[in-house]
Amino acid sequence: MDNVSPSPSLYAQSALSHAQKLAASPRGSATAAEKQAADYVQAQLNSAGFQGVQVQPFTGERSIWLFVALAFGLALVGHAAYWLLCQPAGYGTALVISLAFFAFSGYLIWRKFTLEDYPLHRTLPHGASQNVIATIPPIGETQGQVVLVAHLDSHRAVFWFASDFMVRLFGYISIITIAGVYAAIPVYLLAALTPYRVFTWLGILLAAFHFLGWFTGITADLGRYSPGANDNASSVGTLLALADRLTAQPLQNTEICLAFTGCEESSGDGMLAFIKQRGVQLKQAVFIYFEMVGIGDGISYIREEGNLSRYTIPQELEAVLLEVGKGLALGPVSTPFVGASTECSILLKFGYKAACLVGYCHGSSFLPQWHRLTDTPDRLQVEALERIHLLAWDLLQRFDQRGV
Ligand SMILES: [Zn+2]
Repeated sequence: MDNVSPSPSLYAQSALSHAQKLAASPRGSATAAEKQAADYVQAQLNSAGFQGVQVQPFTGERSIWLFVALAFGLALVGHAAYWLLCQPAGYGTALVISLAFFAFSGYLIWRKFTLEDYPLHRTLPHGASQNVIATIPPIGETQGQVVLVAHLDSHRAVFWFASDFMVRLFGYISIITIAGVYAAIPVYLLAALTPYRVFTWLGILLAAFHFLGWFTGITADLGRYSPGANDNASSVGTLLALADRLTAQPLQNTEICLAFTGCEESSGDGMLAFIKQRGVQLKQAVFIYFEMVGIGDGISYIREEGNLSRYTIPQELEAVLLEVGKGLALGPVSTPFVGASTECSILLKFGYKAACLVGYCHGSSFLPQWHRLTDTPDRLQVEALERIHLLAWDLLQRFDQRGV
């Protein structure tokens, strides 16, 4: 029985080996390299004996940064309209055109970050991407479903992620830059309608932030992609090792679905395609999302996340996580109000039971190697991969014994 099967540390070694191979090169969203990673995962699942591994093709956004350039570019036009048109066209006309651009920019940002479709979405560059999906039936009758998810792609190593200091700065600047799109409307109204010069200076200050946002967006894709060893080859490797263990030790009553998604870093288009295809069958399933699990001395679950609009994991799922993760001191974290979120936001928005597990280092509030060029395979820690394997396995046993 169990005592003849390989130990968790061997599965962690196997996860590490997969992650090292995947992170040997970067895997940009909707690129040939992302496709190669999908091919690797498919080949591994096939050789592990899985029947009917599905590659689900979809068209996904190539970069989140082009949306950033679009939104803040529109805000910059708003600033320019006010300053350039007030002389030739008069304050009234300049104000109306300027405010229309701020309102449109703010509308796009709101729709995008609250995970709704938005005008001009199709004009942003898209490319071919794919999810890899496999299911593992239980020995007995299926009484519950668990979906294990990890994304295949890696992010651009934009300069804002280069050090902990820059990441912190990025957090503050993002808030001011986004809030500034909405604040620009009353600021320019007051600049035009009152004699107080402070509002014109405030308008110029906001323009500086919007220039920085636009400049970041327009130049981000000129740089290199992160190798993405921790984010998120570590999770893909973890799922492949779990798949091996599940074929050797299948669950009694719980069907496992493995979903390896494309385009997480650019848009979440992979997760959207996945739930479009399988969402109805998985409405009662529990989704466990794995993010950056290959470095650190602890694991957290994300209790609350989402840009601008917030989503919280279901209470009953949180109770299970706390119960099963007690031995590993599993505790909650929340993502900031803007600047960082996972595909779990999409699942929670559409009413699925989902939670994201993420590795961390004690004493640091930063995600290890997040979106950096230094997110290389040599930094992965087998102890971290063993910890997440143990937790995931215990969770699966708990769901199998007492339902999801
Ligand atoms: Zn990630």
